[in-house]
Amino acid sequence: KKTENQILVIFGASGDLTARKLIPALFNLYVARQLPKNFVVLGASRSDLTDEEFRNRVVYESPYLKEKIEDLKENYIQGFADKIFYEDLGGTYDTAYDGLRKRVEGLKKDFQTSGNIIYYLSTPPTLYETIAQRLADAGMNTQNNGWKRLIVEKPFGYSLDTARKLNQGLHQFFTEPQIYRIDHYLGKETVQNLLVTRFSNSIFEPLWNRNYIHHVEITNAESVGVEKRGGYYDKSGALRDMFQNHLLQIVSLVVMEPPIGDQPEEIRNEKVKALKSLRIMKDEKTLWDNTIRAQYVASEVNGKKVKGYREEEGVDPNSTTETYAAIKFFVDNWRWEGVPFYVRTAKRMPTKVTEVVIHFKTPHHQIFKDSGVNSKDNKLIIRIQPDEGILMKFGVKVPGQGFKVERANLDFYYSSLAETYVMEAYERLLLDAMQGDATLYARADEVEAAWEFVDPILDYWKNGKDVRMYGYSAGVWGPENADELIDDLGTWRNPGAS
Ligand code: NAP
Repeated sequence: KKTENQILVIFGASGDLTARKLIPALFNLYVARQLPKNFVVLGASRSDLTDEEFRNRVVYESPYLKEKIEDLKENYIQGFADKIFYEDLGGTYDTAYDGLRKRVEGLKKDFQTSGNIIYYLSTPPTLYETIAQRLADAGMNTQNNGWKRLIVEKPFGYSLDTARKLNQGLHQFFTEPQIYRIDHYLGKETVQNLLVTRFSNSIFEPLWNRNYIHHVEITNAESVGVEKRGGYYDKSGALRDMFQNHLLQIVSLVVMEPPIGDQPEEIRNEKVKALKSLRIMKDEKTLWDNTIRAQYVASEVNGKKVKGYREEEGVDPNSTTETYAAIKFFVDNWRWEGVPFYVRTAKRMPTKVTEVVIHFKTPHHQIFKDSGVNSKDNKLIIRIQPDEGILMKFGVKVPGQGFKVERANLDFYYSSLAETYVMEAYERLLLDAMQGDATLYARADEVEAAWEFVDPILDYWKNGKDVRMYGYSAGVWGPENADELIDDLGTWRNPGAS
């Protein structure tokens, strides 16, 4: 695909995301010669920085580029840094953008970027609408002299209501095709590979339904706690931080019907349909039976003391914010009727892992009754991180007399494609937006459909009667009570295990 000449304006450029993810992603694209010939990055925020100071901060002295710089020749660094500029917005993001407009016009002329501009919103989300409005006031959203695109970071809303308001707010100044809502999980190769696994093989899709699949299990686990983000996390929690966005995106790719083609809207239409078919939990009994929340408590891991969530800096000592969430739900459509989905996400787990497990049904007629293997052991495990790959479990005969069956693994690791350069999520997503490909970005109705499912759970956890909050020690797979959700199936899979 062609990447047209353009300017990338980053709002909130003095922040963590710009230095840690955006600039390193752009640097990789530069080294891989994926950036257009005429290309400039303009950082903008309230901090008083010169171009030189900004370059030092995000390139020359950046800890996130240190290793890359040591590996590569000096001229790469200089060539890249020469494309980076900075504009001080003054006291606030809510003043007229005359200075910014003049700066952009100057850069457009000097670098012949043809008036194409991406605005990347990397500020606190409370500023998204303000920035869109100020851009419109300055006439910087018009497309009569080059396209304009807006990339919006997560979180996209705090609830269904706030997400709708944000969509409506942004739509006053930018049209939906101009808006790119980023979900970095969709930038991961293994997440995209869900589409390829399902729709480019004839061996999986015929089985991908209620006739052959017993249940689906998705785990996202982090071994760390809230680290330095206690203040932010306490207002968010596992359901908002991970489930509403990343995990429901994965669910939509598992659940969706085959799209008619690979065009962005063809894929996004099917994802929206999938999200809209999730059965919304309405009454307290259903919510009680199908949702579990918990917080990590003070404990000891390998002889080291670990703080409980409520003792973390920035966290309210009486906080009811969950660091563990497990949800069981159903999908009301022809393909999935009656198949339970079990999805959990948590911090302070034994390991960092994200995986999707498709558990197949027991064969209708069991011939090898003494096999010793539970025939539910037919599983397809899609490992999203770490060790990206696919694991298929099936029964094989143990050599010798009789028919003893043992479980065997067919295992594929992405690392075995070592010669293929695997782009990092932000690299891939930035390049897509630069090329105008929104396939891996969330559409307004997609985000709202996800909130529609999550809102009643959040509401129940906040306002319901006798809502349970369990505790769990760091380094275990959450509260034992989470097995209640899954009890007719035995237990959750030990994620990451072979
Ligand atoms: P950040 O460091 O907290 O903020 C980015 C910049 O926004 C700050 O440097 C600050 O620059 C400006 N800002 C304006 N008003 C502010 C206010 N009231 N409080 C704090 N900063 C303010 O954020 P970030 O970690 O870079 O993240 C940016 C966006 O990406 C956020 O929406 C975040 O939720 C999202 N995000 C971040 C990550 C990550 O890994 N960091 C991951 C996923 C999503 P000036 O003071 O110079 O104006």
